[in-house]
Amino acid sequence: MSEQIVYLNGEFLPLSEARIPVLDRGFIFGDGIYEVVPVYAGRPFRFTQHLQRLARSLQAIGIDNPFDESGWRGLVADLISRHPWSDQFVYMQVTRGVAKRDHAFPKGIRPTVFAMSSEFIAPSREQREQGVAAITLPDERWLHCDIKSVSLLGNVLAKQAAVEAGAAECLMFRDGILTEGSSSNIWMARHGKVVGSPVNHLVLEGIRVGLLADLCAASGIDYTLRRIAREEVFAADELMLTSATREVLPITRLDGKPVGDGRPGPVYQRLFNAYQDAKRAA
Ligand code: PMP
Repeated sequence: MSEQIVYLNGEFLPLSEARIPVLDRGFIFGDGIYEVVPVYAGRPFRFTQHLQRLARSLQAIGIDNPFDESGWRGLVADLISRHPWSDQFVYMQVTRGVAKRDHAFPKGIRPTVFAMSSEFIAPSREQREQGVAAITLPDERWLHCDIKSVSLLGNVLAKQAAVEAGAAECLMFRDGILTEGSSSNIWMARHGKVVGSPVNHLVLEGIRVGLLADLCAASGIDYTLRRIAREEVFAADELMLTSATREVLPITRLDGKPVGDGRPGPVYQRLFNAYQDAKRAA
C-alpha cells in the first residue's frame, strides 16, 4: 500500500511527514502515556476498556483527556478507514506537550496527540503450535506499572535481554513474586485452572486480564488472580502470555527448561479457541 497515514494534533498526514518539536516532553522526559488497540474486521476490539484505561493513565499523570469517548472513537474510526487491512492495531499516544525544559508541569500547554495504525500480524502457526521461549529476570521497573507510560526503559531492557537469549519474552519477579512480562501479562495453568497475578501498582491491567476472565467463565475454566511465587511458575503445567498484539500464546520453555511437557497444553488450546470466537462475535 501507499504510505501509512497518521494522526498528529488534529491532522491526518503521511507518517514520513509527521514531526514533533524536540522540546516535546514525551521526547525529553518520557512524560506521556499510550494505548494499543487491536482491530478485527475493521472494528476495534474491547475498545471501551482500552479507552477507559487511557483515561485512567492520563488522570494518573495529570493530563486532561484531549477527547471524550466519542471523540476518540471518531478519530480511530477515521484512521482505520484510511488503511486497507481488515485487521490492524492502533497505537495512541498523548504527551504533556511542548515547553521549555523544566521537570515540573508547565502551565497552559496543549497535550501532543498522536495515533497510527499498522497491519495486525497474528502470531505465526509455528509460535502457536510450538510455543515460545521466555527467560526470567528481577523486575527493576518503577512502582507505577499500572500507568501505561511511554517511559518504558525497564521494559525495553528486559525485552532486549530476552531477545539476546533467543527468547520471545521476559517474565519479571519482585521479591520472588511474579509480576508480568516486559510487554504482556503472564498466566499459569495448574490442574486445569488458570492463575494470573493480581493487577495493582506492580502489574498493568492488561485488557486481556478482563477478557481472560470472561473467556474462562464462558468455557467453565477456573480463573483466579493471586500472588504467584517463582517456584510455582517453574512447576506450572502450562504458561501463557497475553497482549493486544500477541493475543494468547503458549510459553513452552523457561530459562532453557521445558514448561510442563514442553508443548502447548489443553488450557491454552481452549483459551485460544475461545479468543478466536470472541473476536468473531465482537
Ligand atoms: N503488561 C505490559 C507491561 C504490557 O506492555 C502489556 C501490553 N500492552 C500488557 C501487560 C498486556 O496488556 P494488553 O492486554 O492490554 O495488551
